[in-house]
Amino acid sequence: MKNRKKIAAALLTTSNKPLELREVFLDALLPGEVRVKSLAAGLCHSDLHYLNGALPISLPAVLGHEVLGEIVEVADEQSAHRVGQRVIATITPACGVCARCISGLSTQCLSTSSLRARVRPKLLDSKGEVVTQLGSIGAFSEEFIIKEVAAVQVADFIPNAEGCLMGCAVATGFGSVVHGAKVTPLDSVAVIGCGGVGIAAIQAAKISGAKQIIAIDLHDEKLQRAITFGATNTVKSDGDVIAQIRKILPLGVDKSFEAVGSPITAALAFEMLATGGTATILGLEKPGSLISISAELLIEGDRHLQGAYMGANQLSRDVETFAQHYLSGDLQLGNMVTSRWAFSEINEGFESMKDPSSIRAVVEW
Ligand SMILES: [Zn+2]
Ligand SMILES: [Zn+2]
Repeated sequence: MKNRKKIAAALLTTSNKPLELREVFLDALLPGEVRVKSLAAGLCHSDLHYLNGALPISLPAVLGHEVLGEIVEVADEQSAHRVGQRVIATITPACGVCARCISGLSTQCLSTSSLRARVRPKLLDSKGEVVTQLGSIGAFSEEFIIKEVAAVQVADFIPNAEGCLMGCAVATGFGSVVHGAKVTPLDSVAVIGCGGVGIAAIQAAKISGAKQIIAIDLHDEKLQRAITFGATNTVKSDGDVIAQIRKILPLGVDKSFEAVGSPITAALAFEMLATGGTATILGLEKPGSLISISAELLIEGDRHLQGAYMGANQLSRDVETFAQHYLSGDLQLGNMVTSRWAFSEINEGFESMKDPSSIRAVVEW
């Protein structure tokens, strides 16, 4: 453990079991890296899927990818980052110079895997075994190491708990609307799933001027909340969703968004489209999942089905945009944080996600 720093982390050692607060050993920085002290991290449903084994990750692992922290060490003197700056981490670090980056697709950067690669493991457990970090971040720990291009500076007026949401829920939901589907005032919108990502999509649709915004969810509590964020109509998804949508929009929806992560809701997002409409699928699916759609609706109705991984975000530009909309009051971040927990209460935080009125539980250090 020479040259490694002892820190506390919430370790996932067995899926479907609570996280264990343990000592782990963080490596010294390599060139191009920064060390970040965690200040606030959101508990995302993707974390939960890894925690309960629905998505694969090699164990032991430190989860957590939606985080705001403070830079405590910078490897490179030429870095744009300085000690003391608050930053948001991204799971899609981008080189900024490859063909995809320069065409605006930074979440599909050709160098992402080499940017994540490292000659030594960042984290070891007390037995000296390698500890995986989710998204090469592993935010559920006192400190973490990321590449400097994976850190985006955030304005001073953004509070920690609110700001951390920008790293995943807001980047994905907001980004899918403005970068993915490019919603305009001409569009009607429907959002399936009113958790953190869905609520961010609803707010972005409102900011983009969508003429109608239908929130779709299983829970009344979530639908009531969705109205306070800009939804104009709600549909409870325990009945015939398509029939209910047709009552509101007889010709169908122009831009639909799926923020659940199930092939069934993904197919539903496509089925509800108007002619020429676009369904954007955001929820992470299990490896090998297939989405079944009608060829007739696709081909004869000029409909579109697309992904927008992590909202096709351009995070350094987006974070600055989120901050301005937060400042003007158009982007409600505080109301998205429905519960706050100390880091030591992280398992209670995950439990609280079962509450249907929960949007985002956030742990703070
Ligand atoms: Zn997430
Ligand atoms: Zn690139």
